[in-house]
Amino acid sequence: MIKQHEIKLANQHRVGVVWFTGLSGSGKTTISLRVERLLIDRGYRCVVLDGDMLRAGLNSDLGYTEADRTENLRRTAEVTAMFLDVGFIVLVPMITPTEAMRALIRMRFDEQSYAEVYVRCSLDTCEQRDPKGLYRKARKGIIRDFTGIDGRYEPPPQPELTLDTEHRSVGQCAQQLVEFIDRKYSIHQKEQEIQ
Ligand code: ADP
Repeated sequence: MIKQHEIKLANQHRVGVVWFTGLSGSGKTTISLRVERLLIDRGYRCVVLDGDMLRAGLNSDLGYTEADRTENLRRTAEVTAMFLDVGFIVLVPMITPTEAMRALIRMRFDEQSYAEVYVRCSLDTCEQRDPKGLYRKARKGIIRDFTGIDGRYEPPPQPELTLDTEHRSVGQCAQQLVEFIDRKYSIHQKEQEIQ
């Protein structure tokens, strides 16, 4: 049986979750993929849990009602926990629209291995970006319960980090998050702080 401290020593970083929240099109996926690349280049074991991929397989029986979204998030949190057990930093770009949903996710993890990152961008800008054409479909009524249109989004009052993708570039936001992850999860950083 491999022990957590053995994984930690092999990795040179602690395990942890970075759980993104933000409107569709705010930049959660874009930033998580950029950060995954940067972290791997720095020697982290890191993975992005792609919500679309999970919905295509594990969560294919679920829709977008609040109950189904909560179940979708619960299962995603369980998969995340399995990656933590084997030594990963897990980046989870999911809209996670309500405080109640985020509270459930937060409860699943230890405080030292959990960070909520708010990817902040106005609805107007997200709708202009519309990278998957989803806002257009939601406005036409083709998609229902779409967050920001006919589904609610509650901005998180106290995220561990906020990334302002409206006013800062992808590169700047990614850098800000890598520095945050270094501070929270790197063993080297902790040792430097102790000395
Ligand atoms: P989400 O995963 O939140 O639904 P995506 O990452 O799929 O959002 O889409 C965000 C879109 O916004 C992409 O087309 C991306 O290129 C664009 N974009 C523009 N500026 C930024 C920024 N500063 N950070 C992240 N994405 C940005």
